[in-house]
Amino acid sequence: MIVLDLCCEKEHRFEGWFGSADAFEGQLARGLVECPVCGSKSVKRLPSAPYVQTRHAAPAPAQSPTQAKPADVPSAAPDHMPVSPETAAVVISMLRKLAREAEDVGSRLPEEARRIHYGETEARSIRGAASRDEVVELLEEGIMLMPVPPSDEDLH
Ligand SMILES: [Zn+2]
Repeated sequence: MIVLDLCCEKEHRFEGWFGSADAFEGQLARGLVECPVCGSKSVKRLPSAPYVQTRHAAPAPAQSPTQAKPADVPSAAPDHMPVSPETAAVVISMLRKLAREAEDVGSRLPEEARRIHYGETEARSIRGAASRDEVVELLEEGIMLMPVPPSDEDLH
């Protein structure tokens, strides 16, 4: 499983989890990858992604010139972005908050995630349990999942 740094045509940056780089390319080609901010399907991989594809040159347009970017955005991110313990704690608490607000569907997670993905039920945040194999299958179908660390009260 890989995490890719993605960017839409409006420079919204987001992360996507995919079963493999090929799975990402396939989903992108089928229009299954879209920006979570504006819904644009004109999505490209950022060169700072930890996994760089070298098998064939993508026909994607070249990165826009750096002068088009706001001054406060560094043009080149370091390969290894250091994450402070404070930052990690904030991220984990955000994930837990999202998880608390999501509907708990338990072991029906893979089924519910698919129904939402294919528009068979109302789109909403859900949480639940899925095996690693189920997670990989969902990712290969283009369904975005986010692993959430267990909250303290869940650790019995
Ligand atoms: Zn966007």
